[in-house]
Amino acid sequence: MKENTAAGLEMICIACPIACRLTVSQSGPDVTVTGNRCARGDAYGREEFHAPMRIVTAVIPTDSAQFPCAPVRTDKPVPRDKVRELLQKLYATRVALPVQSGDVVITDFDGARVIYTRTLPPDEVASIGEPGAESKGDDKVS
Ligand code: SF4
Repeated sequence: MKENTAAGLEMICIACPIACRLTVSQSGPDVTVTGNRCARGDAYGREEFHAPMRIVTAVIPTDSAQFPCAPVRTDKPVPRDKVRELLQKLYATRVALPVQSGDVVITDFDGARVIYTRTLPPDEVASIGEPGAESKGDDKVS
């Protein structure tokens, strides 16, 4: 959340769970960050002021009936004003299973890779305890 006020651009630092309330103001060429408790907050405020970046997470459609969506994320932040373009590209993608966590979906989007965050088997491979798993009948207890 960012808000322009008379004091400057106000935002919550998301670099750690403390969530300091930052104010970023500019006077000529000088940018000042206040409200931060550490240097990470200063860096976050400046980046948000000049060129906000975001890690993007999404789910993309697969060809599987058992696992119709595969979770993915960028391996580094991308410019916030390009997030919509990336999401449109991802939602237009349809992938075939199996996929491995860490495998690459998109090799380069503004310097970032998009990778799977979960390993998903093909439909015909059903693990014990998952929907579709069948007992082989060898280990019955009576
Ligand atoms: S300014 Fe520092 S302490 Fe405060 S939320 Fe950001 S990282 Fe955490």
